[in-house]
Amino acid sequence: MNLSFNPDTLALPIHHLIGDRRVPAKGVIGMRRPSDGKSYADCPQASADLVDEAVATAKAALKTSNWGGVRPRERINVMHRWADLIEQEAVTLAKLEAIASTRPVGELVAGDVAITAEQIRFFAEFADKEGSDLVPTDDGNLGMTMSEPYGVVGAITPWNVPLSMAGWKLGPALAAGNAVVLKPSEMTPFSTLFMAELALKAGVPAGLINIVLGDGPVTGNAITGHPDIAKVSFTGSTGAGSAIMANIAATGIKPMTLELGGKSPQLVFADADLNKAAAAIARSILANAGQACVAGSRLIVEEGVAQDLCNAIVTEMKKVKAGPTWDEASRYSPIISERQRDRIDTIVKAAVAAGGTCVYGGAPMEGDGYFYTPTLITDVDNASPAITDEIFGPVLSVQTFRTEEEALSLADHPTYGLAAGLFTRDLSRAIRMTRALQAGTIWVNRYSRSRDHILPTGGYKQSGIGKDLGREAYLANRKTKSVLINL
Ligand code: NAD
Repeated sequence: MNLSFNPDTLALPIHHLIGDRRVPAKGVIGMRRPSDGKSYADCPQASADLVDEAVATAKAALKTSNWGGVRPRERINVMHRWADLIEQEAVTLAKLEAIASTRPVGELVAGDVAITAEQIRFFAEFADKEGSDLVPTDDGNLGMTMSEPYGVVGAITPWNVPLSMAGWKLGPALAAGNAVVLKPSEMTPFSTLFMAELALKAGVPAGLINIVLGDGPVTGNAITGHPDIAKVSFTGSTGAGSAIMANIAATGIKPMTLELGGKSPQLVFADADLNKAAAAIARSILANAGQACVAGSRLIVEEGVAQDLCNAIVTEMKKVKAGPTWDEASRYSPIISERQRDRIDTIVKAAVAAGGTCVYGGAPMEGDGYFYTPTLITDVDNASPAITDEIFGPVLSVQTFRTEEEALSLADHPTYGLAAGLFTRDLSRAIRMTRALQAGTIWVNRYSRSRDHILPTGGYKQSGIGKDLGREAYLANRKTKSVLINL
């Protein structure tokens, strides 16, 4: 199958989706393709009034479809049909994802698209397995916890893996019997819109998924502060998460799931399989050019093997072949925008000015688009901007340690605790360190998710509140009522 395509002739869905209506709107937010910097579309901005209409549509749809009250297997069957359509339309979805985002089209069909379909099925299956419980009380009473959907969930997603993030929000919310008003990133709305239209085709009642386009301060704020949005599910930066908490506090308390930024360490002990560790570490910082919440951006390595490991990682870094996301052969991503590429460069330069040594990279790539050279920086201390800031680019910092205590102390970031990697052949140490590391996900002798969607993902510290994926994500979309009946 040839997946390469001409980005100038790809038809783009660019409208709001409210109920089953495509709502056309004037584009106001300029969009540029990361791969060549070309201006190619303008994203509309949903006003508070339009968000209001979307929420009212969602509420009405819940009522008319009785989505939360039908036999759960009906919800499951519809969602399975939706997953089938996602697979059937994988190529279109991959192209819509690739043109706007930084994800190469060659990685998407078997990767993000297939995984998204799988996760929709995974979440659907909770619908008739999780529910209310009878609880122990004395003989004179009947006690139970009654599980119920929230109603209308507000969801907001980032640009770095747009389709996956939409699946993480829509899957559990719908399976749990809710309706959703979702705002994708203003930089990458197309794949989410197309996926929502596939849900309509599959038979998800109109109005249960509503997509409003726009930026955070206007459209996002209108969603999180809306009185009829019963719960907010957000993935994005820690800064935006903080603004959302403030808005929710100011407009009416409601539950929220926040999946935020990271600055994840990878600890390598001298007894590890260094070749495997080097390959995993390089992959983790080169995938999507480091634009991943769980990017393993801080290498913390035992002193005696640091040089060899860095050499092996630089060898991997030298192999990247940058190319436009619409070329099937491309495997190295551009940075999402010129502004973000400049920010990466500014942090790298500041880290060097603060005493860091740039062993490899450290500059934008020549040519079209917003590509940045893979970068490895040594001689950094905890005050260096290479350590303090989430760079969200292909930049790996290196620190060395002599003892486990020192390794743990370096790993313990003051702000973030999203993920951590650990490479050692010593089982006891692996368990000791796993217990001590302060992160929501620990990978041992690997650094990546598997397709075991049952493992929840979420952050410690300011990397977030609550979980996506796993049973936790489904349960986060249900509320619990305690009932006590006097017999
Ligand atoms: P961002 O915070 O700038 O934007 C994310 C989304 O939030 C966008 O749709 C944006 O329009 C919206 N938004 C921004 N400000 C808002 C506000 N005040 N109110 C409501 N909505 C608002 O993040 P980004 O640059 O799109 O994505 C990169 C960030 O996302 C990184 O920090 C990354 O670590 C994080 N991320 C986290 C996870 C995770 O699972 N923890 C996954 C992917 C990305």
